[in-house]
Amino acid sequence: MLSISNINKNICFRFSRFAVQLKPDTIMKKITVAKGDGIGPEIMDATLKVIKAAGAQIDIEEIEVGEKVYLAGNTAGIAKESWDVIRKNKVFLKAPITTPQGGGYKSLNVTTRKFLGLYSNVRPCMSLHPFVSTKHPVMDLVIVRENEEDLYAGIEHQQTDEVVQCLKLISRPGCEKIVRYAFEYAKQYGRKKVTCFTKDNIMKQTDGLFHQVFNEIAVEYPEIENEHWIIDIGAAKMADTPEAFDVIVMPNLYGDVLSDVAAQIAGSVGLAGSANIGEECAMFEAIHGSAPRRAGQNMANPSGLLQGAILMLNHIGQTDVAEKVQNAWLKTIEDGIHTYDVYKEGVSTQKVGTQEFADAVIANLGQKPKTLKPVNYANGATLNLPKYTRKPAAKKDLVGVDLFVHWNGTSADELAEKVKLLNTAEVELTMITNRGIKVWPEGFEETFCTDHWRCRFKPIGETVMTKEHIITLLQAANSNGIDAIKTENLYHFDGKPGFSLGQGQ
Ligand code: NAD
Repeated sequence: MLSISNINKNICFRFSRFAVQLKPDTIMKKITVAKGDGIGPEIMDATLKVIKAAGAQIDIEEIEVGEKVYLAGNTAGIAKESWDVIRKNKVFLKAPITTPQGGGYKSLNVTTRKFLGLYSNVRPCMSLHPFVSTKHPVMDLVIVRENEEDLYAGIEHQQTDEVVQCLKLISRPGCEKIVRYAFEYAKQYGRKKVTCFTKDNIMKQTDGLFHQVFNEIAVEYPEIENEHWIIDIGAAKMADTPEAFDVIVMPNLYGDVLSDVAAQIAGSVGLAGSANIGEECAMFEAIHGSAPRRAGQNMANPSGLLQGAILMLNHIGQTDVAEKVQNAWLKTIEDGIHTYDVYKEGVSTQKVGTQEFADAVIANLGQKPKTLKPVNYANGATLNLPKYTRKPAAKKDLVGVDLFVHWNGTSADELAEKVKLLNTAEVELTMITNRGIKVWPEGFEETFCTDHWRCRFKPIGETVMTKEHIITLLQAANSNGIDAIKTENLYHFDGKPGFSLGQGQ
């Protein structure tokens, strides 16, 4: 469990099993830094210069990750020794890296999130109207994205000539951790509402679990308003009326897409930072990439990484420094001192490079913005997240099996005749679907069918289904020339079906 509190300038860090009393002006926090690729080194130098000038008590241990490491033959983009450094220091500030195209290189970001259990991706998106162009002048929302599971588990298979699949894995601990994080974040930062986005009208098991856990946890926070939107209309509403939202929590893939949309409509993806938080470690970064075409020209905007660094300073309890940097940054934006990406004739007063922008922020340290709302992190960061405790196991009954078959025919009735040969006195074929839609019995001729068929077998009468029945089915499929490509067991958990019906069933 990670708990950070700031009480009367005494900061208490509690990393897992130990607790130390710290004074912010005397204690150095060791952090890992990777300067990355493309514009990475420039924006990292600018960011570190600003936060050190503001009094950040950090001791930097630098590691090399990204393009050079990939091209040296390490497909993960990071050496084992660098993992050791990241795990030892627990706090990682990372500039964007370039993932070389092709060659099977794995995204270092995704690997880092999963290896280190960084389950929560937090991305504040705030408009800086009238100083940065936006159609949404009063937007100020935070997207809390689940960061480890969903379709990002990356478990994909080709199963037939025509069909590939990606497994969408959603777990109760994954949902509980991220939803609780969203409510705790809202509580800590004085936010009024947490909204959940899912598509549980269609994905009743996976998104259904996320929504159900949201409802369960929401009741523990009566002081915070809660609501749920189906993702499609919710996303449309967010793009149109972002001021209607405060904190939005959602599963991984939706969060990936919508956090970029939110950052862009707030003003620019170049202005947003993000925190990736786990129980032990945390990683902070800009949301944009390494912009290789802008590299080495002192042009890039360091604001995204600076925002990541501010999230880091809050996380390590140096909230006074975080506040000072954020207010100076807001004042600099307000002064119209802008890098090329947000520069606008008539609004901006000076077009500056990366270093000059950093120097302008440093010159504003100690000042507050006048039009934009100054931040106040003085209430201190107290994020108390209990460890997940596993619930007692449910009563699990096997009630059938889906046998997936690769078959090149087009008539479901013809396939049913072949598959019925697998029926026994105890187990029988009850349904065939193609891409989820029921095609037997009583399918429609109009339904388009691929070569990927799901054949559902259920026990007959009072038969209690066992794994033996499944083995017998597979053996029979094999001897009858039926190409079984996989099975999915059908269970009831405490009497409730743990599987979906066929569409049209
Ligand atoms: P990108 O975000 O790097 O750049 C897109 C465009 O946005 C750039 O051409 C530039 O005009 C602008 N831009 C981005 N950041 C800027 C900044 N700080 N200041 C000014 N302008 C900025 O996206 P891309 O071109 O699709 O990707 C380039 C590389 O970055 C790829 O190798 C990609 O894999 C990698 N990438 C890394 C991360 C990361 O490390 N977190 C994230 C996204 C992409």
